[in-house]
Amino acid sequence: MKVVLQNLTKIFPSRNKKSGEEVIAVNDFTFTIPDGKLIGLLGPSGCGKSTTLYMISGLQKPSSGKIFFGDEDVTELTPENRGVGLVFQNYALYPHMTVKQNILFPLQNLRGDDRMSKTEMLEKAYEAAKLVQIDELMDRKPSELSGGQQQRVAIARALVKLPKVLLLDEPLSNLDARLRLQTREEIRRIQKETGITTIFVTHDQEEAMSISDIIVVMKSGILQQIGKPQEVYDDPANLFVAKFLGTPPINVFRGYVKDEQLYIGGNDKCEGGECVMKVGGVSNCPVTVGIRPEGFVLDPEGKLSCKLSNVEVMGRDVSIVSTHEASLNPTVRSIIDSDNKVVGTDTVRYNLKPHKVFLFGGTDGERIRFEVK
Ligand code: ATP
Repeated sequence: MKVVLQNLTKIFPSRNKKSGEEVIAVNDFTFTIPDGKLIGLLGPSGCGKSTTLYMISGLQKPSSGKIFFGDEDVTELTPENRGVGLVFQNYALYPHMTVKQNILFPLQNLRGDDRMSKTEMLEKAYEAAKLVQIDELMDRKPSELSGGQQQRVAIARALVKLPKVLLLDEPLSNLDARLRLQTREEIRRIQKETGITTIFVTHDQEEAMSISDIIVVMKSGILQQIGKPQEVYDDPANLFVAKFLGTPPINVFRGYVKDEQLYIGGNDKCEGGECVMKVGGVSNCPVTVGIRPEGFVLDPEGKLSCKLSNVEVMGRDVSIVSTHEASLNPTVRSIIDSDNKVVGTDTVRYNLKPHKVFLFGGTDGERIRFEVK
């Protein structure tokens, strides 16, 4: 089922009568979620992810804008009539019911033409349980399950009615690191097997990047960028997106462009920086320079010189930690193939891979594109 958000906006009235400032939780969202895809809604806390999800589910009413499931306008429909499955961070299972009863619950509440016989309901419940691999645990109570198992029950309960759209709000937050990894792979598998359009909310960029077909990056209720994870990583629209995606994070420097050459560092008058590469088609201006950790090439004659702090060996790669007076992060972190050796102990010199270097300008850190000559 395709989901279309059209100029979707949610404004919460102020809680503080004196200041009177309302909160624009979601500001004019327009995008289409293609049928059968897994979408990661990603952004820092308070950016409006959950509000977007709740509006899609029908739990919250938009202040303006429309939501379509396929060609049907569902904006005014109640959650029960939208055919969505919802899974929250806290699994919210009924503690006095067994796993089986928890999964059966949504089916027992079906009315009219949708009502099912007992046998049919049991069949559906076992199908859903099998899908999330908890069919062996059907007679246990939630308290007798691990966090990961409880979350699977919650997913089975959301899937049992075969929803048109599955909505997951930070479903892995209560799990430990290993279970998080395992459960996110499970969610991906289940989504692929069922082909249900799924919207997954998380503030964890790695999680979103690893399982989503498409990621939607949000900040303060405003859509920043939408695209395939690798495309957004390789081609960020602005400094916020570049900084939000990637571990270790992108390195950020003060710099300027003069005569189509990029300089890092220097003074307010755009003088005295290190000339690091050509940037065709960019006018003279101060810039913020983003360099991905994998964008550095060790070279004793390299144009960018950093003060070496330490070298962390990580097996296949080494991570070189250094500092630079123009760095806007406390340290500069590069990831280099471990075959390359760091020569010297004080200074480390690099050349840069142009496609791993991004320039940003203006007050909003908009991307400035350049030609590699
Ligand atoms: P988190 O990751 O912390 O859950 P989020 O990205 O999901 O954050 P939302 O919960 O959608 O963010 O909240 C977006 C903004 O709307 C926040 O500034 C929040 O304080 C505000 N907000 C959310 N619900 C309400 C409400 N019922 N009344 C007033 N303001 C609200």
